[in-house]
Amino acid sequence: MRRGVAVFGATGSIGRSTLAVLREHPDQFRLEVISAHANLERLNEILRVHQPRHVVITQSDQWKASQSLRAAFPAVVFHAGMEALNDLAAMPEVEIVVASIVGAAGLRSTLAAVRAGKQVLLANKEALVMAGTLVMAEAARTGAIILPVDSEHNAIFQCLPHAYRTGQTIPGLHQLILTCSGGPFRTLETQALQHVTPEMACQHPNWSMGAKISVDSATLMNKGLELIEACHLFAVAHTQIDVVVHPQSVVHSMVEFQDGSVLAQLGSADMRIPIAFSLGYPARLSIDAPRIQWQDLRTLEFESPRHEDFPAIELARASYAEGDDRPLVLNAANEIAVAAFLSGQIRFPEIMAITLECLNRLPRQPISVVDEMIVRDAEVRGLAKQLVEISVCS
Ligand code: NDP
Ligand code: MG
Repeated sequence: MRRGVAVFGATGSIGRSTLAVLREHPDQFRLEVISAHANLERLNEILRVHQPRHVVITQSDQWKASQSLRAAFPAVVFHAGMEALNDLAAMPEVEIVVASIVGAAGLRSTLAAVRAGKQVLLANKEALVMAGTLVMAEAARTGAIILPVDSEHNAIFQCLPHAYRTGQTIPGLHQLILTCSGGPFRTLETQALQHVTPEMACQHPNWSMGAKISVDSATLMNKGLELIEACHLFAVAHTQIDVVVHPQSVVHSMVEFQDGSVLAQLGSADMRIPIAFSLGYPARLSIDAPRIQWQDLRTLEFESPRHEDFPAIELARASYAEGDDRPLVLNAANEIAVAAFLSGQIRFPEIMAITLECLNRLPRQPISVVDEMIVRDAEVRGLAKQLVEISVCS
């Protein structure tokens, strides 16, 4: 029996890697649903190679522009708008949902897949940062299996006992150790950070990824978001998570148990590996990914993050510790600031300054239901955009 797969955010970097793995195993998987937002060119390429039954064009403005593409693939059912994802996630034909839309925009569809009790391959870490308590509670209620695609969390999951499910506490745990490449500016002098460009920030030394997560990796906010993600996925206190910079990105993360044993998962820096693990789970799929060349691997280095120059990890940790809407505010402000940096409106250090300013200006609020989260998210974005404007003018 082939398993039905939906890939939300199929036109992105994770989407591409997922489709590559699926293509290697046509006997095991059937592509039921894909979504694209603005990139119709990539959607066209995908449709030439893959045969999904349903395509969702989430950005409604693109519907008209997609007319000729829709005409070219008459066997495919096309849908317009984000809401279609929620219904398609719940279809009985869909067993696995790959949640790989970037940012807060992915929250509702991720939650829909969890509420429908699917096997959810979670790349969209922002959904957990915003609404981790709710998402994990819904998974416990419906029996949805959340499998982390993020390489660090996937590594941790692989180091845990076979019967372990995300959301449960880890027996005998001492701490989780998240590894962090340090990003492209790991060794750059403080002053030079003022002048780095979006192109420089997107040149990650080890991984090829979408623009937003590449900038997050450069500010180390990616590791901050991942720290919060890990707290939710593995039911651990933030004080039980350490972050260590490991420039080679070979050790993808580690689990230290109370007896002093440390387990790690190693592999090439290729997202097809954690994706294949999660698609095949609990079996292993064979894939054509690069293997570690042990003879060429001279050193594995580990060092502390430069928190003074890259305050994002500690800011995320403090936001999580404070609770309520703090992680949501952190995430929304960061998304706007990163977009402003990518479009050349602000400088690199202002990403963190704007995020911090939003956290300071907006008083802490409890939030528990999605509608409240969406309202709060919009409010934060409004303030962050104003701060970008002020920053552009000064
Ligand atoms: P990309 O920017 O490459 O892709 C994002 C995807 O989301 C695209 O399909 C895009 O559509 C779609 N999208 C963008 N905005 C919206 C929106 N408002 N509504 C609906 N769909 C939208 O990102 P990545 O693939 O790099 O990252 C995806 C997620 O996975 C992120 O949460 C990231 O943090 C996480 N992740 C990524 C890793 C990586 O290696 N890339 C590693 C670990 C986690 P379109 O292109 O058509 O506009
Ligand atoms: Mg990661």
